[in-house]
Amino acid sequence: MKTVSDILRQAGITPSSQRIAIGEFVLHTATHPSADEVLAEARKRLPSISVATIYNTLHLFVEHGLLRTLELSPSHTVYDPCMEPHHHFIDDQTGHIHDIPLDAVSVTHNHFDGFDVREVQVILRGRSHTQTNPAS
Ligand SMILES: [Zn+2]
Repeated sequence: MKTVSDILRQAGITPSSQRIAIGEFVLHTATHPSADEVLAEARKRLPSISVATIYNTLHLFVEHGLLRTLELSPSHTVYDPCMEPHHHFIDDQTGHIHDIPLDAVSVTHNHFDGFDVREVQVILRGRSHTQTNPAS
């Protein structure tokens, strides 16, 4: 498995100790963490890391194609290291976000006048009956 330093270098990012501490969690997680959750995890590795560094680094990772954001509401953005197209299912009760394969949902989106569709991403909400999140 590639180290976080390798992943950062390949993406054109200089691997500082702070970026590695953040990347070790956020680039390998199977969850969809918020910036606050990334901060808590990064501080386990590097207790002095600042909130500003977390936001700057997450922004850098997004810009360089290592992470994508998922905006669940204007005040709730989470980060997703899975860059393959996929959908999400959000459990109403637990708030857990599960990845759903692209082909599990069919969407017809071929023709919208005046819009070029770049990506289709569906957010399903409801209740999960099985615990499928391997990270928890
Ligand atoms: Zn996802």
